[in-house]
Amino acid sequence: MTVKAEGALRRALVEACRQINALGLNQGTSGNISLRCGDMMLISPSGIPYETLQPADVAAMPIFGEYGAWSGPFKPSTEWRFHLDIMRARPEVGAVVHTHAVFCTTLAIARREIPACHYMIAAFGGTNVRCAPYATFGTKELSDHALKALEGRFACLLANHGMIVLGENLQKALWRAVELETIAKQYYYSLLIGGPVLLSEAQIAETAEKFRSYGPQAKDMPAQDLQVKDSRKGRNAGRASRGARQAPRARQAK
Ligand SMILES: [Zn+2]
Repeated sequence: MTVKAEGALRRALVEACRQINALGLNQGTSGNISLRCGDMMLISPSGIPYETLQPADVAAMPIFGEYGAWSGPFKPSTEWRFHLDIMRARPEVGAVVHTHAVFCTTLAIARREIPACHYMIAAFGGTNVRCAPYATFGTKELSDHALKALEGRFACLLANHGMIVLGENLQKALWRAVELETIAKQYYYSLLIGGPVLLSEAQIAETAEKFRSYGPQAKDMPAQDLQVKDSRKGRNAGRASRGARQAPRARQAK
């Protein structure tokens, strides 16, 4: 990771902190954001107002070095444990966003998972978004609960606390943060008018397949899906490279 690339990630992280507040996804400094930066994790510092936050204030932690070691002018967010544990356990994840978004948190207070009430649930990797059991903020216990709830998923709720969304990069994590709060709001309102009619596993699978194969959401699909697609492309590229005529076309496509 070059100094220039790290600088760009630091600036993007600061910008994203301000964005989650502007989007109404977070209040004050309760949320936090981390980005993978080579073998380091950049993470928003603890308790610094986002309006005054500077790229140099962002804390850095080794992902696989001494657990909890950090550098920077300010301590990392108190929630560094789940950020770091996610970066360790999920190599496809490049960004983690945690906020106390109102509708996500309302459902988390009621300890409800989000079921397949809308086809967009497929954007989070399955047929539901789970709610992790309660544990005190900042603890390893909370991190363990979160990791389990995130298995095979790109989002989870945290009981009586908030939500976590993951992205292959910051852009996708922010996109999922908006989508998660939207579906939480829609599910909440549906509960007020008699409860949702849920989609079947087959219907969600069909949506996921459509996301995979074509459509405006294809670029936003979870990494596993992209990897499946990429590996298919890889095999095709391999075949194409055996034909001299097709090889340049395969390169152009990238
Ligand atoms: Zn929190």
